[in-house]
Parts: sequence; structure tokens; C-alpha cells
Amino acid sequence: MSTHPIIISGNLNDSTLETIKQKIGGVIQEQKDLLIINVDTSIPKQKLIELRNTLSEEYQIDINQLPETFDPSKIGLVLSDMDSTFIAIECIDEIADFANIKPQISEITELAMHGEIDFETSLKKRVGLLANLDTSALERVYKERLKLNPGAADLVKGLHENSIPFALVSGGFTYFTEKLKAEYQLDFIKANTLEVIDNKLSGKVLGEIVDAQTKAHYLEELCQTLGIQTNQVICMGDGANDLLMMEKAGLSVGYCAKPIVQEKADIVINHSGLNVLLDLAIAP
Ligand SMILES: [Mg+2]
Repeated sequence: MSTHPIIISGNLNDSTLETIKQKIGGVIQEQKDLLIINVDTSIPKQKLIELRNTLSEEYQIDINQLPETFDPSKIGLVLSDMDSTFIAIECIDEIADFANIKPQISEITELAMHGEIDFETSLKKRVGLLANLDTSALERVYKERLKLNPGAADLVKGLHENSIPFALVSGGFTYFTEKLKAEYQLDFIKANTLEVIDNKLSGKVLGEIVDAQTKAHYLEELCQTLGIQTNQVICMGDGANDLLMMEKAGLSVGYCAKPIVQEKADIVINHSGLNVLLDLAIAP
């Protein structure tokens, strides 16, 4: 029998298990923190979305099926967006808080993440509003506000144990990607550089803006560096500007993502930690 497992993770308990048995059927097996339901064929995406819509929120579970084209044994890279994917905040919103302009900046961030204004325009607007802010604000954001999303550190550790590199790409700022790289031994990073003059933000970004295009290009660039194919990449993100790079990957993962990303991603994680990827896709 060919198997196309439906993989369920999140808040798994006996009553959830019963409901799932009734609603999905198939042969159920439990493995680590997952429930794996072996079904004969790949179920249509629409059916999967229906199952998610009816069960995911109520039972706090994620329901996923890996794409048939994806080969977990060949993974050569995991590439992740930073803000609201690898970490639990939008750094620029928190920097803005120290400048007392958080509502103004968050409003522009939201519009960009929903794909309602283009990313470069929104970034320049937001960084412009931060002009003259002391750089100590960045340090305070890192120390006081920046938290990794659940399972993120374990994911990186698990990948390294499997000799799989981890890359972080961000439309945010190098200040944070560099600190995260040093603290968690990340393999590759790319982000925007804030211009600093006399310990104050100038309100400008130096060099090329890392936008959706750049992120997608970075995925290809890393594949070249590592000598792997793009379908050997797992790529995760939460916002509209992650979609281009996610489309290029062998497996795209939406993490607590905006609706447009939830709809397009191969798999979605809303009720599990990021480390679930290890069990789900890296070494299933
Ligand atoms: Mg993001």
C-alpha cells in the first residue's frame, strides 16, 4: 500500500484522537509528538483545508500532508524568515516603541505583511520614521523584547545534529540577524543594514533592500553555494513577502502565517512548536 500520511500535531489527547478517527479514518499510528494517519492517496488540498477549518482551531491541532514531490531524505537546507517566524516579534515595531511611534509603524507593517503595499516602500517609510533614534534602542529590543518562537532553538539544534544547515533571511535588520547568528550558531544570514551616524539611526537603509525578490534569490544563491537543488530546501515564513521564496522550496511552511500564506504553504504550523518540523519532515 502506498502511504500518504496525514500528520497531526499540537494538542493531542484521547478525545482529539477519537474525533480524528471518526472524521478521517485510515490507519492511525502514534509517533513522538505526532499522530500519523496512513491513507491510500494524497488528499486534495481543498479537502485538507476543509479538515483544518473544521478541526484545527477547535482541537488546537495542525493537520498536514507532505507534498508527494517532497523527499525528506534529501533535505539540504532550512531557510527561515526572521520576524514573526523564527522570532516572536516584528523588530521594527519594537524599535518604534522606544521612539514612541509604535502604532504608526505597526500600521504600515500590517499593510505590508498582508500584501497591501509593496515591501520596499513600506520599509523605507518605516525606517524614515526612526530617524534620530539612539542605537541603544536596538540593543534594548534584542535584550528585552526579542524571544524565539517555541521550538526554534530546538529546530536549529536538531538540524545541526542531522548536518543540515539553517539560514535566516529577513526584511528586518542585520543588527538582529547577526546577534542571532552568534547566539544560536546559525549558518547563513541576510537582512537590511540600517545606516547609523553618530550612534543614531539616520532613517535610511544601506545597500540593496531585502524584499520578496531578494529573499527568493537568496534561496537560489544558497543552493548554489551548498551544491543542492531548490527542491531540497524547506522554507518557512509568515508574511506575503515570504511567498516568492517559499514557492521555490521543496517544502514550504507557513508558521502562524497570514491567511494568504496559510492558503499557499504546503504545510502550516499554528498549534505546534517549530521543532515539529524535525519529526514531520526531516526525519519522519
Ligand atoms: Mg515575517
